[in-house]
Amino acid sequence: MNSISENLLLVNNRIQLACKHANRDKKDVGLVAVSKKHSVEQVRAAFEAGQFSFAENYVQEGVNKIGSLQDIRNQITWHFIGPIQSNKTRFIAESFDWVQSIDRLKIAERLSEQRPSDLADLNICLQVNISGESSKSGVSPREALLTCLELTELPNLSLRGLMAIPEPGASLQSMKEFQQLFIEIQKHLKKYQFKNQFDTLSIGMSDDLEQSIQAGSTMVRIGTAIFGTRNIEEDKEDLNT
Ligand SMILES: *Cc1c(COP(=O)(O)O)cnc(C)c1O
Repeated sequence: MNSISENLLLVNNRIQLACKHANRDKKDVGLVAVSKKHSVEQVRAAFEAGQFSFAENYVQEGVNKIGSLQDIRNQITWHFIGPIQSNKTRFIAESFDWVQSIDRLKIAERLSEQRPSDLADLNICLQVNISGESSKSGVSPREALLTCLELTELPNLSLRGLMAIPEPGASLQSMKEFQQLFIEIQKHLKKYQFKNQFDTLSIGMSDDLEQSIQAGSTMVRIGTAIFGTRNIEEDKEDLNT
């Protein structure tokens, strides 16, 4: 098995190559390392290898990890990318820099109220359910524009873009449709002179990184290809906390 630093090198090479194929600049594609179900030591190893953005899916696990890495807190950008229960928003508002999994207005309203005033605005992405699978959270593509307009009204939050989790094997076409939606919303916001940057199209995981970059992704979220397989069972942790 490769070390984390070797894996990071490989992933960065994949991004570089995909950008070249898509005629894009590598600087325009951010890499977020998804550290859910991996240890504090693994995050630190990735950090020492030059990785500064990380994402977590589970509130309790994420908050604990951020707490254990306080000494490097200022150098790391922490993203929350998991499903959000409304009774957990305060922990997210107090600990994270980004929340990419906003799937309803009510959650954003709570985060807006609970964001501590001494912290910078919380960067948020609206999650869109592009596959129409009922098991996935996110607003439908039809609802996305209106929801974005509502999100721009909330204080202490900065709407930065859209996020999606395409189903395994999703077509390039479906990802490009998502990119079109993103571009349309971007145009609308510009028309309304929305002050913040709406610049983030977050798609792409270990298995569909190349295709996502071809479809215009500006932020890929990579777990397995950096940290290896997650051995702890997923989706259970938060049920009892
Ligand atoms: C787990 C997860 C990822 C990373 O997936 P890998 O296949 O391990 O790269 C990315 N995005 C979200 C929302 C996730 O839950």
